[in-house]
Amino acid sequence: MEIIESIVKMHQRSEDLRLSGQTLALVPTMGFLHEGHLELMRVARRHADKVIISIFVNPIQFGPGEDFDTYPRDLQGDLAKAGEVGVDIAFVPTVKEMYPEGFQTEVAVERVPKHLCGLPRPGHFDGVTTVVAKLFHATKPHLAVFGQKDYQQLTVISRMVQDLNMDIEIVGVPTVREPDGLAMSSRNAYLTPEERKSALCLKKSLDLALQMVAQGEKRAEEIRKVLERLILDHPYTDIDYVSLCDPVTLEDVASLKGETLLALAVRVGKTRLIDNGLLNRDRGE
Ligand code: AMP
Repeated sequence: MEIIESIVKMHQRSEDLRLSGQTLALVPTMGFLHEGHLELMRVARRHADKVIISIFVNPIQFGPGEDFDTYPRDLQGDLAKAGEVGVDIAFVPTVKEMYPEGFQTEVAVERVPKHLCGLPRPGHFDGVTTVVAKLFHATKPHLAVFGQKDYQQLTVISRMVQDLNMDIEIVGVPTVREPDGLAMSSRNAYLTPEERKSALCLKKSLDLALQMVAQGEKRAEEIRKVLERLILDHPYTDIDYVSLCDPVTLEDVASLKGETLLALAVRVGKTRLIDNGLLNRDRGE
């Protein structure tokens, strides 16, 4: 596997590959790779001739007091895992390479970031769209693969690509979970054994909501109340949001019609976890 740190070298490499007729897939990550990330790389492998991953903990998507400094990092371990799933190139720029002195440009999507995670984390998605736009320019992929675990991120990036006419196909991959249902996340490493047990309240909420919908419940507020109770019955939990919303605009809905997204953000101890799932009112009716 090739390791590239410089943007100029990355440009040249991608240009050469494109000129030789090869298709390129990019999987952007912040590292500390787990099975969820590796699944994205396997999907990328099936879609393109060459797989590029980026490993970059992006400072501008972290707010003041968030975990940028303590975010788990393990570059050597990550490179070994990526090599095992057949990644061809790891693009691993430094912060200085990505944001040299004088940097002052932002790519911002207007409305979708105003909901869900955008409320408690103002500016977060502007940091995400800015870095992803930069990674797209640096690596010149034909397609890019993202996880549905970060549903809002996937929506925001799809919007950016469409609005700015970027010639890149965006592929979404279903959430990869631990055997007991917890969505895999680099931040799970922060959980104590007791908090790890409480963290199951997210998946339990998704399952309970599906059950309520299957039994005919249509009132979003009713589902939200039941889930909030379930979550707060688990120790160490604090709710950022439980939202039943439109899967495209992410605006809250009052009543379930067609497909509705259930999106959750819960603090377990000091760790903020997210999860989501689609509730389909039409299923089986
Ligand atoms: P991150 O390193 O957390 O920025 O994530 C990099 C990519 O991996 C994003 O597209 C995430 O949505 C995706 N991802 C993270 N966790 C999972 C998971 N459990 N299942 C599927 N994709 C994931």
